Order: sequence, then C-alpha cells, then structure tokens
Amino acid sequence: LLTGQVEFLKGVVAMDGLPPDDRLEVCFAGRSNVGKSSLINALTGRRAIARTSNTPGRTQEINFFTAGDSHYLVDLPGYGFAKAPIPVVEKWQRLLKAYLSGRATLRRAFLLVDMRHGVKDVDAEIMRMLDSAAVTFQVVLTKADKIGTAARDKTLAQVREKLAKHPAAYPELVVTSSETGDGIANLRAIIAGLT
Ligand code: GDP
Repeated sequence: LLTGQVEFLKGVVAMDGLPPDDRLEVCFAGRSNVGKSSLINALTGRRAIARTSNTPGRTQEINFFTAGDSHYLVDLPGYGFAKAPIPVVEKWQRLLKAYLSGRATLRRAFLLVDMRHGVKDVDAEIMRMLDSAAVTFQVVLTKADKIGTAARDKTLAQVREKLAKHPAAYPELVVTSSETGDGIANLRAIIAGLT
C-alpha cells in the first residue's frame, strides 16, 4: 500500500482547499523536530517525499499525499515552536480543529512523540483536540534508537499514564526508529489494516 506509490498532492491552508473525501485518510501530528518527515519518508520508502512539507512556506500547510488510489496520508504542521507569532498559532489551531472535526474519512491520527521526551503539554493539548473531534489517535514513539531499554520503558509508562485520560486514545503504542527501521513495517500494517 505505502511503498512506491506515494505522491505529494497538495498543501492546504483553508478548509475549502481540502481534496474530496473519497479515500481513507490517516494523519500525522507531532511537535516540530519530533521526526515526522523522517517517519513519513521511512513509511513510504521515498526519501524526498515529506521533505516537501518541511520546505519554507509549506510548514503551516496541511500536506496531502496520495497512497495508491485508496488512501490519503496527511502531514499536519509541526507544533510547539515558541517562536511562531500568536495570530499564526491561532489560525493554525482553527484550521486544525475544523479539519479534525469535519473530515468524515479520517480514520486515525498518529501522534508522534519523541521517545526521549515523552508527552509534553503541547501534545496533551492536541490530544484534547482529538478527543473533542472524536478522532481516534495512536501514539507513535520516534527515535527509539537514541535511548536504551530502561529509558524506553520509563517513557512508555509515562505515555500510558497520560493516555488514560483521553477517551479518543487507541491504547496500543507503536515504537519506531526511522534510523534503524524498527517498527516501520508494523506501522505500515496498522495503516493498511484500517477500514
Ligand atoms: P520533523 O520536524 O518532525 O519533520 O523532524 P525530522 O524528520 O526533520 O527530524 C528531526 C531530526 O531528528 C533530524 O535531524 C533527523 O535526522 C532526526 N531523526 C528523525 N528520526 C530519527 C530516528 O528515528 N533516529 C534518529 N537517531 N534520529 C532521527
């Protein structure tokens, strides 16, 4: 499903720019620098694909990729950059809320969390937004290669504790490393299994 047939479709800045909701859709969210582009690249086997979303001018857009003719992969802008001016942040939050609550074909949001850092306040804020929009979300831990087993377990426990408060949370955590490829096939299978 995901390898070899993924193409960038468009960057969206307003609800009326969304492509028709005629496919299953999953989206990826996470703090800036969490490793979102690297993960999307690893998932799709296309090195350059999500670099598109990290180029200046595209970072505040909702970027749509087509996967075969059955799915959209949606790259949401990275959040948590203190530097963004308040009006920019507010505009982005409005668009995000509208997108999450208005997209009938959105099956799951993957919320990326750096395995070294665990869930931060800004992540919890997005989780609340996903709860309100009733979008099932699943946490994907990134950069697992950067820490040892004990530290991993500590983060997993912290994430599980945080998730317990969120009705929209899907309980199974996905541990990944775009560097080593760990967990990538598992995540691909999860996406392919959504109906
Ligand atoms: P984004 O801002 O969320 O799109 O993050 P990027 O994908 O650009 O990654 C941010 C930084 O983390 C880059 O320097 C990546 O090389 C690095 N990185 C991303 N994923 C991994 C990973 O799984 N392991 C390691 N060691 N580094 C990673």
